[in-house]
Amino acid sequence: MGSRREARNLPKILKDKAMKREKNQREKLWEEAGGHCIYCGHPVTLQSMEIDHIDPLCLGGENSFENKICSCPACNAAKGGSPLEDFLLENMGKSKRKRFSNRVNHLAAQNKMSWAKAFRLDPYTYEHFDEDFDDDDAPVRSLHFNGEFSIEFR
Ligand SMILES: [Zn+2]
Repeated sequence: MGSRREARNLPKILKDKAMKREKNQREKLWEEAGGHCIYCGHPVTLQSMEIDHIDPLCLGGENSFENKICSCPACNAAKGGSPLEDFLLENMGKSKRKRFSNRVNHLAAQNKMSWAKAFRLDPYTYEHFDEDFDDDDAPVRSLHFNGEFSIEFR
């Protein structure tokens, strides 16, 4: 109730609250990405993960939860202040980009990540969304041409 003692402790209380908020956000970002770097897919721990700004702060990106994502230190360093699109094109081959896209969509489809963030990360993602994305038991597909195209799922 507004005692002098509390007033004196206020900066510490605010600092503790800020740290708690930061911790919660870090955990939320880690869970949102399923404990993996969103870009390369390598597993990260709560301690080793870094918080990347999808749209870099230096390019006018906000410091909001929606603009933050769980990254490994290597990807965060490689991305630096580059626009996301440049980073993806310059640092990832086509197959890695596709896996990134699938990872983003998979997390949104599982309600771990908001679709707003998924589209921020990958605006073209719906064009190549693979519902069956799963590295281990992806169905084998074959395309046959015999007068007509047919696709077989096995
Ligand atoms: Zn990474």
